[in-house]
Parts: sequence; structure tokens; C-alpha cells
Amino acid sequence: MTLDTHGLPENDTDRATTVGEAELPYLRRCVELAAEAVDAGDWPFGSVLVGADGTILAEERNRETTTGDPTAHPEFELARWAATRLSPEERAAATVYTSGEHCPMCAAAHGWAGLGRIVYASSSQQARDWKAEWGVAVTSPLAPLTVQDVVPGLEVVGPVPEFAEQVRELQWRFRNPDSPAS
Ligand SMILES: [Zn+2]
Repeated sequence: MTLDTHGLPENDTDRATTVGEAELPYLRRCVELAAEAVDAGDWPFGSVLVGADGTILAEERNRETTTGDPTAHPEFELARWAATRLSPEERAAATVYTSGEHCPMCAAAHGWAGLGRIVYASSSQQARDWKAEWGVAVTSPLAPLTVQDVVPGLEVVGPVPEFAEQVRELQWRFRNPDSPAS
């Protein structure tokens, strides 16, 4: 089964392609990790690194608040993990699944580590749209570059429509821990 791109924000339609049904559990795990991050007071992001044979090699969640390190993004940690533990061939054959599209810092780390494909559940554009809807200012100091702006030629898949509401709810819960979902 493949998922179509129905219901995506207009800006995402040119980047979204398809994701196989067998890959959805990896994205569900990313969203679980994002929920764990929110429960700990961290930003709602989670990622898993999957080898060519489908084995989860490593997983991480955002730890910006709990470590006080604004670079403690899961995608960055996985790129550094892979860089020191996997061969160049293993890295190139691996896929990084993530709950939210890589920021430019993490995309650069992914590129330098020579990792393979990226599949993300929700896009940076969706996050910007939700913030605009909630009247929340965009606080990133980085230019809003896509992964492919930073790493040309890399295969990148996302967003996957079925995860939009879950990720949106986690973003809301992070900002409004005492309020029900909007
Ligand atoms: Zn990042």
C-alpha cells in the first residue's frame, strides 16, 4: 500500500511522495518518542535510525529543555551516533525516520554523516502553519531551508498525512500543557 498526498498543505505537495505500509511502524515509534519528549518537558520530536535490513539501530528524542542544549535534536544525535559506529556503506544504506522534518542543522549533519534516505511524518511547513494558526511566533534562528536545499540529491519522503493530527496535538500539548487540544 502507498499513501497518496491528499490533504497536504500546498507548499508540501511537490516534495511529498509515497511511503510503504511496512515503514509506518517506524514513524509511529518516532511519534511515541515525541510524546515521551513532551512528557519530559522537551520539544515534541523523535527519530529512529533503521538499517538496510529493517533493524532499528538507534532511536532518540529531543532533549533541548532537559539538557539546556538547543542543539539536542534527535536527528543530530543519530547522525553523530552513525558517524562513529557504522561504516560508510552501512550509513548510506540506512534510513532515518523522524516525527518532524529535519531542521537545517540536522540536515547538514545527516549529509556530512553520509546517511541515506529520510522519511518524515510532518513537515516544517506544517509546523509553521500550525504556529501561524495559534498566533505563536517562529523562534528558529535558521533560514527555513528544506532538507533537499541543504543536501541536494538526497531521497526525502514526507509529510505522511495520517500523522498530521497526532503531531499537531503534540505541538499543542508542548505549548499548552494544561489546556485540551485546540
Ligand atoms: Zn534539528
